[in-house]
Amino acid sequence: MDLLPIVNGRSCGDCTKCCEGHLRGDIKLSDGRESWIGQEEDGKLHPCGFLKIGEGCGAYAERPTIPCKVFKCDWLTNPDMPESFKPSNSGAIFSTRTVNGQTYTKIIEAGRNWTQKFYLGLFNITCQEEKTSHGGY
Ligand code: SF4
Ligand code: SF4
Repeated sequence: MDLLPIVNGRSCGDCTKCCEGHLRGDIKLSDGRESWIGQEEDGKLHPCGFLKIGEGCGAYAERPTIPCKVFKCDWLTNPDMPESFKPSNSGAIFSTRTVNGQTYTKIIEAGRNWTQKFYLGLFNITCQEEKTSHGGY
C-alpha cells in the first residue's frame, strides 16, 4: 500500500484525471453505493459515477481507502516532478510502484491531445485556469 506523503504545497485541486477512467478500479462507498472506473468495451472512458469532472469527488466523505485514498500520482508525491507535470496540465499520469523489489513507472495517457499536452508540459507551457475545488482521488 502506497502511503507516500504529499509534497508540501501541492494538492489535486481541479485535477480529476485518475477518476475519469484513465485508471481502473471498482468503487464501493462506505454507505454501500458502488461504481467503477475504466474503459468500456468500445474503448470509451467510464468515469467514476460519483465524480464531478473538473470539480472533484462528489462522495468525498464516503470514498473508500482503496483505491481512492491510497492512490497518489507521482506529481503529488515526488518533489522532483515539475509543476507542469500535474496530470490536468500535462495530460499524463505518472505512477511509480515497487513490486517484488522492482521499481517501475507507468505513464498513463490522460487527455485527448496527450502527446501535444505532454510536450507542452515538459516545457512548462500551460494555459491552466486557476480554480478552487477538491481533487480526484
Ligand atoms: S492523484 Fe489523481 S486527481 Fe490528484 S493530481 Fe494525481 S491524477 Fe490528479
Ligand atoms: S475519489 Fe470519488 S470520484 Fe474519485 S474514484 Fe473515488 S469515489 Fe469516485
